[in-house]
Amino acid sequence: MPLLMIPCKCTSSLPAHRISLGVKLLIMTFRIAGTLVILPLAVAGVIAASSGLPSAPLSSLQIYFIDVEGGQSTLFVTPDKHSLLIDTGWPDAESRDAQRIASAAKAAGIERIDDVLLTHYHVDHTGGVPQLVAKIPVGTFIDHGPNREVTDGSTVQAAEAYQRVLATQHYGHLVPKPGDVLSIQGMKITVVSADGNLIAQPLPGGGGANQYCAFSEKRPADQTENARSLGVLINYGKLRILDLGDLTRDKEMELMCPVNKLGHIDLLVVSHHGWNQSSSPALVDAIAPRVAIMDNSAKKGGSPSVWDTVEKAPGLEDLWQLHYSEEGGPTHNVEAARIANLQGPDTGNYLKVAAYPSGRLEVFNARTGTTKQYPPK
Ligand SMILES: [Zn+2]
Repeated sequence: MPLLMIPCKCTSSLPAHRISLGVKLLIMTFRIAGTLVILPLAVAGVIAASSGLPSAPLSSLQIYFIDVEGGQSTLFVTPDKHSLLIDTGWPDAESRDAQRIASAAKAAGIERIDDVLLTHYHVDHTGGVPQLVAKIPVGTFIDHGPNREVTDGSTVQAAEAYQRVLATQHYGHLVPKPGDVLSIQGMKITVVSADGNLIAQPLPGGGGANQYCAFSEKRPADQTENARSLGVLINYGKLRILDLGDLTRDKEMELMCPVNKLGHIDLLVVSHHGWNQSSSPALVDAIAPRVAIMDNSAKKGGSPSVWDTVEKAPGLEDLWQLHYSEEGGPTHNVEAARIANLQGPDTGNYLKVAAYPSGRLEVFNARTGTTKQYPPK
């Protein structure tokens, strides 16, 4: 089997931080051969085993929720300094978002970003790519395939600027499909949605009937890039972390009804900046997150109806917000201690989660300098 022809790249002398590179070489081999870009879980296991690594990560995964003012940019850094960035924020003449990402990378002790996953081509997610690569070295880009929203000017511009970056051939490039698994030092990253397609079978931990489908209104099919978001479920030790980008309610219902294909989630990146086009009860109540983080800005996302849904989700310990939501006002914002940026001048504060294999979560607010603990359940 071709997968087993790679062990020379993955011997026990390969340092831990090179494991995902070994994985990428494997995937590139598939691509060159014209085969599907795919990494079956069993293969990740083979590579990890051949490296001599322990099966469980040793320490906490650091997750920076960078304030890109109503876009998304979330940086994951493993104990061994391997990194995954989900989305790059907006383009900006002064590289505001790229600078904020580079600052978070510096705080995390890394000088390059190994993998950049783009959920979709809207400008608040992909627009920052050219500025990012000008600021900090990047290894591989991961996306859902071609931009399908060819009628929206800013989306076309962002997608074309990204294609120009890829055309330099300085970067790896992966296009995974639902069900594919990527592995980065203890992070098992399962693709659950991509290009409008969804996993067909429940993941381990999912599979039960979803009682919340009955309480979720059916919405018409979204025709934009949002519905094509490349969404991932990340396992880290006992933790399960979900980021579906801006996946819309029609796709949530398809994914979660009548069977909950995801199961319980510990840490939820609230979809779509907390805007009411996403976050149906069929998703949020069924996954019952322990901690949720909303990457809203003052005037984007943070819809009161979504805020209500997340706040009332069964088992939720806390919702955190990147910004005070003006639309939410006094009744639909969390307490100030759990908001990174209050009303007033933009200060770009981030939230950081330390995620432990045991299930422990710690959330740090860069504005207040304080940390709240969430012991494992
Ligand atoms: Zn967005």
